[in-house]
Amino acid sequence: MSNTPKVVSLTPAVFHLPAAVNAVSRSYGDNPIVPRGPKFKPILDRVRHGLVAALGAEADYEAILLTGSGSTAIAAVLGSCLRREERLLVIRNGAYGDRILEFAQALGQPVIDYELPYGVRPDMARVEELLAGADAVAMIHGGTSTCTLNPMAEVGALARKHGKKLLMDGISSLFVEPIDLAAWNVAAVMGSCNKGLHSHPNLTCTIVRKDLLADMATFPSRTPNLELHKTWQKQVAGGHPYTMDPMSVLQVDAALSALATEGGAAGRHAMYQARCEILRAGYEALGLKIARFEGQPLQSIGTMLEIPAGNSYEAMADKLATNVVDGRVFEIYSAQGKLSDRYFRLFNMGEYPLEAYRVFLKALAQVL
Ligand SMILES: *Cc1c(COP(=O)(O)O)cnc(C)c1O
Repeated sequence: MSNTPKVVSLTPAVFHLPAAVNAVSRSYGDNPIVPRGPKFKPILDRVRHGLVAALGAEADYEAILLTGSGSTAIAAVLGSCLRREERLLVIRNGAYGDRILEFAQALGQPVIDYELPYGVRPDMARVEELLAGADAVAMIHGGTSTCTLNPMAEVGALARKHGKKLLMDGISSLFVEPIDLAAWNVAAVMGSCNKGLHSHPNLTCTIVRKDLLADMATFPSRTPNLELHKTWQKQVAGGHPYTMDPMSVLQVDAALSALATEGGAAGRHAMYQARCEILRAGYEALGLKIARFEGQPLQSIGTMLEIPAGNSYEAMADKLATNVVDGRVFEIYSAQGKLSDRYFRLFNMGEYPLEAYRVFLKALAQVL
């Protein structure tokens, strides 16, 4: 099959993973692990500790694993880290902020909605004003729908000043962007074991500050199988309240080792930045326009671009997926919802050599 083209995924969820992650499924079938037995506890301990250690947060935070994707972590944090009556300020300027609002409303949380156009930086004076009437605030860190970063440190400083709880969606920023949870005053994080960590999208994680976790022992239950305090207690003891796939936990373990060999989150950030430098210079050389929003830095996982005049997303995606260039084809990604008529997105996540992105620029030039 040597002449089958290699697929390069320029999407943010399914892409090539480290060899060590791929190796797990090849040997696991001969040595399955019982998810409650004595072999499971050391693996679970290592992974839960590894997740917080990779974020430099082991002193103040605990990691809790869940079966599911990033959205599962959103539901778990909203349903477990807030009391039913707490008023939640939702700052939303993209598709995933919309999801936080939707989930909070489904849980019956009293919400204060600060809605901005997609990509637009929240106004800190307005945040401070709205915080006065809230008990907690939730915001996305890496805004995947616009490929920009929200000012988490600034919102965290306001939350600290006024004694409010800060919930952060770090699903697309954990392990790839500079993050200081303690300095930013983050109480709980909705995470992922897939995106920046490079494992499969079937296990996810939440990161909860120890003081909040202690409080949560007294919160009445709201989400049947996503109760983080109960799950944490079971995981500390080496189990899980429900069935959890130990193979997936081993894959996260392998992904953490791969991250460590790349120099941890700082190393991966540098690797993604090197890709962005080549790609963004290349896009501009091809006359493409990068979507930028005042005061909002670009994410290192990808770039949103305007669809060039006379082109359509579908036509570009189709040609890039089928025209073989230097042995490679490329899967690109549309923009979300109301942005998809004007923009498309190119992510640079996963295990690919820099060379793959140089070839991509060639392929893109041919399509344009
Ligand atoms: C990917 C992502 C999610 C979760 O999406 P899933 O569909 O559950 O994978 C949530 N928030 C952000 C910022 C994301 O990038």
